[in-house]
Amino acid sequence: MLNTRLKSWITVNDDSDFSIHNLPFGIYSDDTVAHRVCSAIGEYIIDLFELESFDLLNMNRSVFEEQYLNSFIELGKKETNRVREKLTELLTDENSVLKSNTDFFNKVFKKQKDVKMLMPVKVGDYTDFYSSIDHATNIGTMIRDPKNALMPNWKHLPVGYHGRASSICVSGHSFHRPKGQQKPPDSETPVFGATKSLDIELETAFIIGKKTEMGDSISTDNADDHIFGMVLFNDWSARDIQTWEYVPLGPFLAKNFASTISPWVVTLEALEPFRVKGYDQSPPLLPYLQYKGDKNLDIKLQVYLKPEGGKEEKVIESNYKYMYYTMEQQLAHHTVNGCNMNVGDMLASGTISGPLASEYGSFMELTWRGSKPIKLQDGTERKFINDNDTVILRGYCEQNGTRIGFGDCAATVLPAK
Ligand code: CA
Repeated sequence: MLNTRLKSWITVNDDSDFSIHNLPFGIYSDDTVAHRVCSAIGEYIIDLFELESFDLLNMNRSVFEEQYLNSFIELGKKETNRVREKLTELLTDENSVLKSNTDFFNKVFKKQKDVKMLMPVKVGDYTDFYSSIDHATNIGTMIRDPKNALMPNWKHLPVGYHGRASSICVSGHSFHRPKGQQKPPDSETPVFGATKSLDIELETAFIIGKKTEMGDSISTDNADDHIFGMVLFNDWSARDIQTWEYVPLGPFLAKNFASTISPWVVTLEALEPFRVKGYDQSPPLLPYLQYKGDKNLDIKLQVYLKPEGGKEEKVIESNYKYMYYTMEQQLAHHTVNGCNMNVGDMLASGTISGPLASEYGSFMELTWRGSKPIKLQDGTERKFINDNDTVILRGYCEQNGTRIGFGDCAATVLPAK
């Protein structure tokens, strides 16, 4: 449960993602700063390099001048948690030097609207899972057989594949509609061109905070020690390219042209009060995938679409709690063969769909492969994503009116190059 007695002397609106309970980490820049580690509260970012000019955190502040969070994360949870605890103390103490010294305040706090958020981590390796039962069932129903929608392995292991790290971008980074081979249903041979069915996938991803060596495995019991935090993740997908290329090895060019993440890494410690019970997993799993306790998370997830020059509107509402496999199970499975993990590696959930049609986490499902277009407020329809559309993922946890969230995960689709 949240300690809702905590209150900051900084005003935080009820609908802010950045209450005192969050204190996520990110990297910002502005006219004067190339890149620095920061946290957030209310409408401000907190420059941790400037904060440490007062030696309040008692650490070497050069780690806060780096381009990515990786070195900071490598210090270990003992240190990163200590920084969050110290921030909590400083931001709740009415007599804090931060509050009383105006010069100091102005150096440390900047309005979020006045800074640019950069890629928070250097991602070495990226993996994408396929762990939402409603999503896997929908896709299996559409492309195979409604009676055997789930493949025989699905309820025995968290299915995943290795993706591409180079094209993971932070929110605000536009990209061009990808081109590639497609095979129209009425044609014997493939054609080349811009995708006609550009889709989104509503996902989250977790970031590895503690490395392992080749040969090591991480148990479900120890997994949380290795998970630094989470971001929102949009796994952009070109469905026509995917349909033609995916047999027999799975996704390739349909997925590796762009993925968008939210800029703030919300720590696992901040998410802890929002744990909920997971699925009853039947048939029973092999012992290495079994786990104890409540390991799912109640994270409300939303997708908004903003046509060029138009207003944004909500098109999907889902929840992380619909995940069949937990992050702890995904990490245990990923490393059970001795695959090593590095700090900054990113492991995405897979599309998160709920049982209701309004909770489907991709347009493929939402419009049932384009057969049921959705109508937008401006009167236009969408089967998939149009050029110059902006898609914004949002996510937050809420308890007793207090919320913690991720900030926007947004990207605009530019016409094909
Ligand atoms: Ca995916």
